[in-house]
Amino acid sequence: MPADLYLVDTIKARGMAEKKDYNQKRDFNITKEPKGGTMKANPNKPSFVIQKHDATNLHYDFRLEIDGTLKSWSVPKGPSTNPSIKRMAIPTEDHPLEYANFEGTIPKGQYGGGTVMIWDNGTFRNIKKDDKGEPIDLPEAYKMGTLEIWLEGEKLKGGFALIKMKSGNMKGNWLLIKMDDDEADARRNPVSTQTKSVTTGRSLEDIAKEEE
Ligand code: MN
Repeated sequence: MPADLYLVDTIKARGMAEKKDYNQKRDFNITKEPKGGTMKANPNKPSFVIQKHDATNLHYDFRLEIDGTLKSWSVPKGPSTNPSIKRMAIPTEDHPLEYANFEGTIPKGQYGGGTVMIWDNGTFRNIKKDDKGEPIDLPEAYKMGTLEIWLEGEKLKGGFALIKMKSGNMKGNWLLIKMDDDEADARRNPVSTQTKSVTTGRSLEDIAKEEE
């Protein structure tokens, strides 16, 4: 997609995210997505999920448990394990914790209509520190727009930074960047080589067929 069109899409997506929340966007008589409100937060061992979402545009929804909800970003190109690659991460509406277990189809015409795969999941640790080396707690780091987390996933491990852009025409968007540690690997490209569900081993096509 040309950069300018992409920008328009981005601004549109952000505008929508601001106006309506998760429940307002969905008709739970039609979609099988969870309504939320039943799962307890686990601040000591927060979870993350990356859902591959074949909607109008294929993208990867990156979600982190922060403050009892899943803070969410849409990453069009998916995460990279190469520290020199920055991936655009467009903030989207908070999702309920239950959403981390959702794999299936969202009916056509519904918000986000298409197929959702649990591409990777696991727990994570907050590793963000201030200039003096003192830990900054997770909700605070989120508010500052500088998250540094250590993922314990199947496909993704190690440090990742999520940085909110504070100026320029991409202001308000975030960048997802692999931190340079033992788990960094410029030769890997899990988005193109590890394409199946981490929970069921299914491809997007399998899910679309089985969950109609
Ligand atoms: Mn999505």
